[in-house]
Amino acid sequence: MKKIAYFDACVDTPEEIILAAGMTPVRLFGNPKIGIDKANEHVPPTHCVWARNILEQAINGLNNDIKGVITTHGCDCTNREFDIWLECVNIEFLYFLNAPLKRSETSLNFFIQDMNELIKQIEEKFNVKISSEKIREAIKKMNQIRGLLRKISRFREEMILKSSELHALVKYVQQSDKDEALKKLRSKLEDLSERKPFPNEKLKKVLLTGSVIDDTEFIQFLENIGFHIVIDDLCIGTKYFHDNIDEDGEPIKAIAKYHLNKPIYSTKFPSYERFEIIKNLAHTYKVDGVINIAQKFCEPVLYTHPYFNKKFKELEIPYLFVEMEYNRESYNQLTTRFEAFREII
Ligand code: SF4
Repeated sequence: MKKIAYFDACVDTPEEIILAAGMTPVRLFGNPKIGIDKANEHVPPTHCVWARNILEQAINGLNNDIKGVITTHGCDCTNREFDIWLECVNIEFLYFLNAPLKRSETSLNFFIQDMNELIKQIEEKFNVKISSEKIREAIKKMNQIRGLLRKISRFREEMILKSSELHALVKYVQQSDKDEALKKLRSKLEDLSERKPFPNEKLKKVLLTGSVIDDTEFIQFLENIGFHIVIDDLCIGTKYFHDNIDEDGEPIKAIAKYHLNKPIYSTKFPSYERFEIIKNLAHTYKVDGVINIAQKFCEPVLYTHPYFNKKFKELEIPYLFVEMEYNRESYNQLTTRFEAFREII
């Protein structure tokens, strides 16, 4: 089956539209094992390491099944990088979806208009018809996926599911045929219902937030240090399945409303709204601490940190901020900082 990939820092891409076109949506991830070479010819040295990594892969050529890429506005970095993709990435179809930053009625109408333009361009390019009925069917399928992921995610609270397992599962869902994903999620739920909690007396419960964190090995690295990520605020995590889309309303409007009503993500401002969300999660899940990870040069997360630092201090909630390179060697270099945080919480 043909695939349309999406380059998206905050999962605002309407996968339902791609499904309704009879294609498979595939989220693009970085690859921490590759070196960066060609991308450096196009972006300045202070450009986000994660976005730079994806640019490198795209210049080198994506999988042949991928017939198009939607870049969805997450942060200014992805926004500006789209212009570079137009110049140096060889792909049949490229579309910039302008997911709005603001959450007003005007933004809602703006987002609806841009999604309708996306539909028109996919229809013309791939000679398909994307009907409202097909979008409704896709919404139902994605809602089943979201519902199963929410149920699965709750096993973290009972110390039955490790966050690395959930992370790998969400990545699988974001890159696979959705019918296969549904089968896998149902079987995972059955498996979890029969499991007993893992030994957890020495684990520290934390909330993980920050940039796109897409390397499951990094999550395992935190677990090996002695953290249990009981809740997260990540796009490969709760931001992907926080709620369902209304199945009865006008489908494009329902999709737009869903994305604009999601708890504000780390790539978006204002910081004080984000802080309230994270503070409430920290209290609800009674975490021992909050870990905020910025990929190197991730401006939205870097700008948020000073405010978070001040506010968490006031509340006496232990808070660790780390900016890191996008490669696995850097994890080991950070071991001491994470271990020290584990010791003090
Ligand atoms: S890691 Fe930060 S700067 Fe990079 S694409 Fe994501 S939000 Fe943008």
